[in-house]
Amino acid sequence: MLTARQKHCLRGIGIDVWTERRLTSGDNLAEPVADILSAVDLEDIRRFANAGDRPRFSEQIEQPTHLSQSSESDREKRGLSPIPESVAPVPAKLDSWDSIIASIHECTACELAQNCSQKVPGAGNRQADLLIVGEGPGHDEDIRGEPFVGRSGQLLDRMLAAIGIAREQVYITNIVKCRPPNNRDPRPLEAQQCRAFLEAQIEQLAPKVILSVGRVSAHNLLASNLPVGKLIQQMHRLPGTEIPLKVTYHPAYLLRNPSAKAIAWKDLKLLRKMLQ
Ligand code: URA
Repeated sequence: MLTARQKHCLRGIGIDVWTERRLTSGDNLAEPVADILSAVDLEDIRRFANAGDRPRFSEQIEQPTHLSQSSESDREKRGLSPIPESVAPVPAKLDSWDSIIASIHECTACELAQNCSQKVPGAGNRQADLLIVGEGPGHDEDIRGEPFVGRSGQLLDRMLAAIGIAREQVYITNIVKCRPPNNRDPRPLEAQQCRAFLEAQIEQLAPKVILSVGRVSAHNLLASNLPVGKLIQQMHRLPGTEIPLKVTYHPAYLLRNPSAKAIAWKDLKLLRKMLQ
């Protein structure tokens, strides 16, 4: 019996989905994805289903793949560089905004740099009290070179506006500064590779509060695997510092799960208090 297991990285609609099923010739792998995502915005599913990047079963019957973990020889055949096993040295001088941003632009340490259109170091007020840390650039951010400018970014702007904060007042960046291919999650080593840049940004900014949006951001900043729903319930400090850190849902998650906006609203009100 032939089964195919495939990871679909749907950060555009916010969920990683595994499909595993027995396959018959002519199967279209988009269908089970749509089944699993019954709770997701239909328009998003339609966009995903029309994206044309999922092979039909007939094209991959020879070799059902586990897309996120292709072997090294597989990667070589596809002209991809090997997945690094350790973090490359970071530039010694990350002691000013200019050196941080220049080093991010020059960085070629991991595969993400080879695949993105441009780096997205971060944007905003370099004297901000509030630092917002997301996951990584998506399609729109990759094109514009700025974080949170797509649909999620528009919602983030409205969330901030609801507590009287303009985007220009905050600094926004991500765990990784290059768009992961197909919007997959950044790999642990990629996040680690980018960590020095984030730490240098935090050091320069010395924010009063950090708002960590979404699972990837919270897990990386807090070195935790707990669900975001749990992390939201506690106040944190950025490990190794005294900086208060609030976790909230990623705007992309809120777009798919509007009922979670009530919890996010509580987070925002708490954030406003923390900033006073
Ligand atoms: N999602 C993120 O986590 N970061 C961005 O910059 C855009 C979308």
